[in-house]
Amino acid sequence: MGPMDTDRKLEILGESASQDVAGATDRPECRRKDIGEFIYPAQLSGGRVLRQLKVLLDNACPFSCAYCAQRAGRDTPRTRFTPEELSRLFASLVERGAVDGLFLSSGIGRSPVATMDRMLATVEIIRRRYDFQGFVHLKILPGAEPAQIERAAELADRLSINLEAPSAAYLSRLSAQKDLPGDILRRMSWISTAVRARRARARSHTTQFVIGAGEESDREVLGAAWRLYRQYSLGRAYYSAFRPIPGTPLEDRPRAPLLRQHRLYQADFLLRHYGFSPHELVVEDSGNLAAGGDPKLLWACAHPELFPVEVNRAPRELLLRVPGFGERTVRRIIEARKIQPIRDLAELARLAPLAQKAAPFLLIRGKAARAQLDLGL
Ligand code: SF4
Repeated sequence: MGPMDTDRKLEILGESASQDVAGATDRPECRRKDIGEFIYPAQLSGGRVLRQLKVLLDNACPFSCAYCAQRAGRDTPRTRFTPEELSRLFASLVERGAVDGLFLSSGIGRSPVATMDRMLATVEIIRRRYDFQGFVHLKILPGAEPAQIERAAELADRLSINLEAPSAAYLSRLSAQKDLPGDILRRMSWISTAVRARRARARSHTTQFVIGAGEESDREVLGAAWRLYRQYSLGRAYYSAFRPIPGTPLEDRPRAPLLRQHRLYQADFLLRHYGFSPHELVVEDSGNLAAGGDPKLLWACAHPELFPVEVNRAPRELLLRVPGFGERTVRRIIEARKIQPIRDLAELARLAPLAQKAAPFLLIRGKAARAQLDLGL
C-alpha cells in the first residue's frame, strides 16, 4: 500500500478526534461536510464563537482505555500526520476561510514525550512559518514533561488534560495504564502553574469527564470538578455522555442519556457562577441529579425556609439563587432598586426576562409576587 494522502488522514484523524469535547461543543450546524465534518464551534470568554478544526496528530495508542476508539488492539485504521503535513493543511484551511482555530489532540503514539514534541512542533510551524495568531487549543498528554507543558502554554491559547473519571478508583476500572494522581493531576498542577507564567499565551485550561462509562454518580463527578476549580484553577469542566464504541470492552454498555449531560452542565454552572457547592445540589438516591428538573429550581423548592425573598432588600448572593435570575438580571435589579424600590411584577419583568419563573420565590414590597402572577399583572 502506498503512502496515505492528506485527505484520507484528515478523514481518519478528524473522526478519531470527535470524542473529545473539552473545549468544543459538537453542535451539528457547524460541521462542514466539504472538509470531512471536523470543524467545531468553540466559545471563547467574551462569548465569541470560532470555528476550530479538531483533529488528532496520531491515533495509534499503546494504552487500552475501555471507552476509547483509539485503544490498542482495536481494529481501526491507524495513521498520523507529520507536523509539516498538519500545519500545511491547517494553514490552507485558514487561507480558504474555512476555519479560524485549531484543537489538536493525539493518541499516545510511540511515547507521550515524543508525540507531545511533535504536537508542539506542529503549533510552532503554524505560529512561525504560517504566522497564524488565532486560537489554538492543545491537549496535554498524560506523561508530558514539565518543559513541554511550559512550551505548550507559550504557544497555545488554551490547554487541557482529560480526567475522564472522578477518582483514581473509577479511572482504574476504565484504564489499566492511566494513573490519576501521577499522569493527570500532577500534569494539571504543572498546567495550572504554566498558564499563570508571565510568558504564557494560554490563559485557561479545561478537562473532560466521560459520563456513564462507569458507575460514577453525578455528585462524585461534580465534587471532582469543584475541587479542580478550587485547587487547580481549572477554567471549565466538560461532560461527555458515554457512547458505546464497537470493538471496545464497553460496546454493550448503554449510551448515557444526553439529558444527564445537560443537567451536569446546568449544575456545573451553579458551582462556577452562583456560589453553590456540590453537596447543596439535590440528588436522587443514586447520587445523580434528578432528570426531571433544573437543578437550581429543585434546590429552591427544597428550601422553603429561605423563600420567598424580598426583591428590594435581598442580598446579591440570595437573589442569584432565585430560579430564573442570572448574573445580569441581578445586577440590573440591584442598580434599579438603588434609585427606587421595584413596585410590582410588571416593573420587575422589565428588568428580568424570566420574572414569571422567579415570581413564586419573591416578595415585592412585602407582597407575594406569585399573587400578582395569578392576577396576570
Ligand atoms: S490514552 Fe487516550 S487515546 Fe489512548 S486509549 Fe486512552 S483515551 Fe484513548
